[in-house]
Formats: sequence, C-alpha cells, structure tokens
Amino acid sequence: MVQYVDLWRLVRHTPLSSTPDVLSWRWTASATYSASSCYKALFFGACEDPYWRLTWRPWAPLRAMFFLWLAMQDRCWTAERLARHGLPHEDTCALCDQELESMHHLLMACSFSRQVWHEVLGWARMAVDLPSEDTPFQTWWSSCIDRSPAPVRKGLSSLIILTAWWLWKHRNACIFDRATPSLTLVSDTIKDEARLWEKAGAKGLLNIIPGE
Ligand SMILES: [Zn+2]
Repeated sequence: MVQYVDLWRLVRHTPLSSTPDVLSWRWTASATYSASSCYKALFFGACEDPYWRLTWRPWAPLRAMFFLWLAMQDRCWTAERLARHGLPHEDTCALCDQELESMHHLLMACSFSRQVWHEVLGWARMAVDLPSEDTPFQTWWSSCIDRSPAPVRKGLSSLIILTAWWLWKHRNACIFDRATPSLTLVSDTIKDEARLWEKAGAKGLLNIIPGE
C-alpha cells in the first residue's frame, strides 16, 4: 500500500526560462492526464500487498473484504492472538470446542468450519479441494481460483469471502452472544447472503449459485 504520495513527482516540470513554467503529465506518452495512468502512478515503486489481488478485486461488501485483509495478516483477535498478548481468551475454539482458536484453525482446520465449506462449495457445485490443515488460507484460495474455469472465478472468490466472513461472524455470536454453533444456520445464512450479494453487485455469483 502506498503510504505517502508526492504529487509533485507525478508531473514533469520544465526548466526555468523566459516563458512561464509549464506542468505536463509524465505518465502517458501524450503527456495528457488520464485516471488510469494516475492510478498506476500512485503505485509506482510501491511494494504490492501480496493479498491485495485476492482480497480487494472480487465483489464483496467493504466490511467483509476488510475482515479478510486483516485475517490474512493474522491481525484479528483470535484466542491464539489474545494468548500471545497475555490477554484473557477462550481455551478452545467456540465452533468445535476442540482446539485453541487461531485464524488458520478457524478458516482451514476447524471440523465445524470444514463442514460449512463442504456444504457451501457443494451447493455452488465448485469442484475444488476443501481447505486443508496443512495449507495457508491464501494459498488454498489462490489454488481454488487458479484451478477453476475463468467464468466462475469471480463468483468463487466472492463466495470464499462470504463464507469466511460468516464463519467469523458465527464465531463472534457464539463467543459474545452465547449462541450455539449451528451448521444449518450458518450454511443457510451464507446461501441467502450469496443471493443478496449477487443482487447487490456480485454478478460473478450468478455463474455459480443454483437457481431458487
Ligand atoms: Zn474449531
């Protein structure tokens, strides 16, 4: 991400002379400003966030994308992160009640979450591998996209964001509202939300979710 942009370096400054200074746009051959060239210029020389393409390109509500972006950098307050900082935390995962909760556990290794992935990906008829305990989430996500036909990739990415987002929301409900983990409830909610996301703009979902 670009932390600081020196707008002055985006323009070409002619040397001092008897004529007035002229500023011209240096990021196109014609020296004419365009929005796309400005966008590229803003990122010139910056290190690209490795998760940027996965997280921010598919259609999803901003809150869900922001959660995924934080999750992939392990910056959400899971029990494992709370423990690392010496803060009070649940002893076991609120969804499976079996292991200490980390973001990797919650998204990839949890027996409850794996059932949700199985249900949701099966419903969307996605022939992709289920999350694996041995694979980082973003590696699995990239692999799912790379191995899927082009017409379903955007929809699949939206569905992966949606499912991960609702696993986190369901986990929060179980911890903070003392809800009971429910495979049926969270799976049905994800399917209903997928139809709402499609109507709100996630057109890629049209290619993968079954008709009502
Ligand atoms: Zn678990």
